[in-house]
Amino acid sequence: MFNSNLRSSADGSEPHRCGAKLRQGGACPLPPAHGKRRCFQHGGARGIGPPKDSQNARKHGFFSRAAIAERRRINAFIRACLQTLRDFDEMQERER
Ligand SMILES: [Zn+2]
Repeated sequence: MFNSNLRSSADGSEPHRCGAKLRQGGACPLPPAHGKRRCFQHGGARGIGPPKDSQNARKHGFFSRAAIAERRRINAFIRACLQTLRDFDEMQERER
């Protein structure tokens, strides 16, 4: 049915809205199209927008999931190295 996803928020308390700004003022009260942020009238229609894996808007990928995950791994490794050095210093300090 058309209104089947009127209540689509996670907790079911407040239904999600399209929220597009209307010419006559206010915001669009329709629920977003399935899997989209806007309703079918405001950009959520089928076939509108880039394909899912489009890279056309990519500039450098610095904030891509893969790049962020790699930086996190490297930083964790550096942190572990620094902690090892601190532990080593502490051990030498005790030997004196
Ligand atoms: Zn709308």
